[in-house]
Parts: sequence; structure tokens; C-alpha cells
Amino acid sequence: MIAVVCRLCGSTKLETVIDLGFHPIADTFLLAEHLNQPELTYPLRAALCAECGYVGLEYLVPAETRYQGIDYSYTSANSAVSIRHFAEVAQEVCEFADVTSDDLVIDAGSNDGTLLKAFHEKSGCSILGIDPAPNIAELAIADGVPTIVDFFCAAIVPEVLKLKKPKVIFSANALNHASDPRGFLEPLKSLMNQDSIFVFEVPYLLNFVEKTAFDTMYLEHVSYYGVKPLKKLLESFGLTIVRIEWTDYMLGSIRVYAGNGAEDSRVSEMISVEEVAGLYSAQAYSEFMQRVHHVRLSLCKKLYDAKAQGKRIAAIGAATKGNTLLNFCKLDSAVIDFITDVSPLKLGKFTPGSHIFIKSDDALDDKIDVALILPRNLAGALNKKLQHLECIFVVSHEGIDSSL
Ligand SMILES: [Zn+2]
Repeated sequence: MIAVVCRLCGSTKLETVIDLGFHPIADTFLLAEHLNQPELTYPLRAALCAECGYVGLEYLVPAETRYQGIDYSYTSANSAVSIRHFAEVAQEVCEFADVTSDDLVIDAGSNDGTLLKAFHEKSGCSILGIDPAPNIAELAIADGVPTIVDFFCAAIVPEVLKLKKPKVIFSANALNHASDPRGFLEPLKSLMNQDSIFVFEVPYLLNFVEKTAFDTMYLEHVSYYGVKPLKKLLESFGLTIVRIEWTDYMLGSIRVYAGNGAEDSRVSEMISVEEVAGLYSAQAYSEFMQRVHHVRLSLCKKLYDAKAQGKRIAAIGAATKGNTLLNFCKLDSAVIDFITDVSPLKLGKFTPGSHIFIKSDDALDDKIDVALILPRNLAGALNKKLQHLECIFVVSHEGIDSSL
């Protein structure tokens, strides 16, 4: 399904600015039997809206296919970085919104419940998760986090209101995954009262462009938000950005507090910086694409050279980001011997598109010579673990960092 109008403002003034070719769904990993079947791929392209500055995917895979087909594999509890991050978030939001044990906090896109548990531990509040992936919601429920298995949509409103109006509606990395961002915000009208606050985190468009973070683009990641279009979007729902913070999570994200009150002065400052960086003109993306192609050429050259010398190459971290990188660079098991990951949901499966077998971290023994670290935000932590290897590659802002 190709977008012909802007998802936020309805304008038809859309221009294709990013094109990463065709990709399978990035966070569904394959079993051996899937390798004998056709694999669907979709165009991974983004367009810029000349009217409101929204950047979003042109082609949308139906949400049901994205989350309820093959089991969804990302769980927050897999990542120590996520757990630490969510504990800090819960602390900050509880303080800002003065959350007490009388309050209800809900999480739209609650995953395995890691964040809600942190809210409950900080304040004693009641918690309720909403997540469309049945296998992940099951994990949350087993862990004591009540969870509605559904998308955050009008249908869940009566279920939530059986408890009470929530003090905090939280959402991390969900608004950017929503097929219909306006539909995602619609339930807020019924769920929020004067004191309620909608707090959400999304990767930040400015960092995406400046860090050449093309590997954070994938079919499930529908929208790439700058502050300018977000402000307009929220205002159309009667919400003001009362606080905004930048965090280094996911190569740079923004945490937005939307509710009733005065606008945070940082909002206009951030929009000015975005305008100066050219985020709302096509030129910035043409330069972005030049850098992306440079990364592909230099990474492939380094890996092919190593392979030609008979080196054994492992990739580390079968994350969604990694799959975009592997598929865009057309790297497969002819170049990369295997990939490692800590998630039990991924071990023994194959990466989508590139069909590389996933093993546990134990496989990184002396028989491996070269490692390609896929989640670049984890490179610092992984480098230490991999000191015994000859060479480590990681994609960076301008090309490839290597330890050679
Ligand atoms: Zn627009």
C-alpha cells in the first residue's frame, strides 16, 4: 500500500527522499523450513511532506502482517541497555507527573512489560500494558504485568476505563511504528483528563540524518519524527508539548510530554536547529543517500577483502537494524559465516532476507577472525568482549570504523 497523502496533515505534496531498495520484514526471524518458501520483500523508501515536514515510509506493510504473522522477536528484557534506560524513564516521569499508588499508568506498545514494572516499583501505581504481539504479551502476563493483546486503538478504551483514567499514558517506540499516527492518538481524547499526560519516545529525525542512521530504517518503523511536524500533530489533538528532552537512546531519541500547560521553550529552539540543518528540504536527504552508498561500498570492500584472505567472519547482534544493513549491503551467508545473539527467541533461526544462521554468543571463539557489530549503539560494550579477534567492524556516521 503506497501512501499518496501525508499521514499527519493529508497533503499530497510528498517527495521521495530516501530509497534503500527492497527488504523483507526486519524483525521476524525465519525457521529452516521457511527457507524453502518464497519470501516477500517490500520497497523501503521514505517521503518528505512539503507541507508539514513529516518523513515517513511510502510503502506500508499491513500492521497485522508486521506483528501477528511470524512471531515477533524483540523483547526489552533482552537488553541491559533497555532495562537501565526504562528505570531512568520511570523515575523521571513519576517525578514530573507526581505519580502515586492511587494512579494508573498504561503503556501503549508495552512489549514484555519491562517499563511498566519499573513504574510500579518506583511509585506503587497500578499498571496496564497494551501490545499487539500475542507471544510477547504472554511473557508480560506471565511476569505479572496485566496486558491487553491489541493495538493501541479505540477498541481498548472501554477496557482501560473499567479501571480508571490513567495519570500517565506512556509509549516508547510505538508512535513511530504506528501505521496511522492520527489513529494511534485518537484514544487519548477519551483516556486523558486535565491532569493526564501522554509521554512518548521516538527516534529523532535530526540524529537519524546527522548520524547517517539508515540502519534504523525498516518496514516496521513507519515514521521518522522531527519536532516541527510533531508539534502540529499534537496541537491538532489539543495537546501542548509541555516538556521535551533529548536522550541518546537508539542513536538519539526525543522524549515528549504532551498535555495541558505552557509549551516548553526548547520546542521552538529545536525547530530552529532542525530548519538550519535542512531537515525539511530534499537536499539534506540527497547528501544523506550519498553517505549511505559510501557506507555500503566501504563495508562490502572490507568484508570481501577479509573473506578473500580466508578469514572467518561473524556478525554480532541479530537486531532489526542489523537486518536493514545486511539486506541493503546484500551481505549473506556467503560472506558472513553466522550471526550471534543473546535472545532465546532468535537462536537457531535465520535472519530475514540474508538467511544467516543465528548462534549464541558462545560461538565467538578463537575460530572467528573478524566481527561485524550490527547494533552500533552497543559497539562500546561489545568491543571489550571481542578483543581476541583480529578485526572488528562497525558502521559509523561517515563510513566504517575498524580496529585494523
Ligand atoms: Zn504533512
